[in-house]
Amino acid sequence: RNKVHDKNIEALLVNGSNGTMRTRNTGYMSSLKSATHVRSLAQSCDICLEDVHFSYPLRPDVEILQGLDLTLKCGTVTALVGPSGAGKSTIVQLLARFYEPTRGCITVAGEDLRTFDKSEWVRTVSIVNQEPVLFSVSVGENIAYGLPDEYVSRDDVIKAAKAANAHDFIISLPQGYDTLVGERGGLLSGGQRQRIAIARALLKNAPVLILDEATSALDTVSERLVQDALNRLMKGRTTLVIAHRLSTVQNANQIALCSDGKVSELGTHFELLEKNGQYASLVGTQRLAFE
Ligand code: ATP
Repeated sequence: RNKVHDKNIEALLVNGSNGTMRTRNTGYMSSLKSATHVRSLAQSCDICLEDVHFSYPLRPDVEILQGLDLTLKCGTVTALVGPSGAGKSTIVQLLARFYEPTRGCITVAGEDLRTFDKSEWVRTVSIVNQEPVLFSVSVGENIAYGLPDEYVSRDDVIKAAKAANAHDFIISLPQGYDTLVGERGGLLSGGQRQRIAIARALLKNAPVLILDEATSALDTVSERLVQDALNRLMKGRTTLVIAHRLSTVQNANQIALCSDGKVSELGTHFELLEKNGQYASLVGTQRLAFE
């Protein structure tokens, strides 16, 4: 699954940032109006999954999502939780338009996502994965990856790195921002790679954010730095997070429990605990893992 994710995410990153950054390229002027339209809709409107059904092309007989309804309220955080195999990553893949629903639709301001140009939508969404894709170039180039050089100054990169709690470790590297990160970022720790990915997303500044939160343990200091950077990144963006940390779940504006291809419970952490249903028992069984 990670391989598929990596390939898709690479495509997202290569596709770069918002429409205005691409005006220098031939042919982009004509799509600029529409790109700006998509971006401004995403900045100011809810995203709705309406009666979404989905089967993967290779398994058309197995319906993974079976009439799923979910509204991602503009500028707020929705945490997606649920048992393994429930379809959480599948929802992410549909939102990012790696696949389209088999039935039902995803809308922004009531407009079907399929009516938007796919590359415009891709520029509107940032994905920060638990295993970020880094390239064999310098730290600075990794942060600015996918954005045209003439529109991203070193100052912009440093600003994003500072907001992502990455600046201090970067300047302690042998060549600072010009240090090569090695094959797939292998010379950096897991927490450092995550903060580079967060800096990249801050620079991309897309209004919609999808986070696949890490399950792998970071040390406490690194965990706090990553969480702090993520909080800054989420601010004001319509965020969907596949949540593994109790702190993320508790602070989310709403939690959607995904099971059997649908949202079976929806509410805040305390509302769902009070309901004493599936979520409450999931928290009960996972409490040790969460903490
Ligand atoms: P986890 O918490 O373990 O990551 P999840 O809730 O994210 O699970 P998904 O990865 O969305 O679940 O998978 C839902 C179902 O879809 C699973 O049964 C999985 O085997 C199946 N699935 C995922 N990707 C594909 C694919 N490319 N082709 C066919 N089936 C797939």
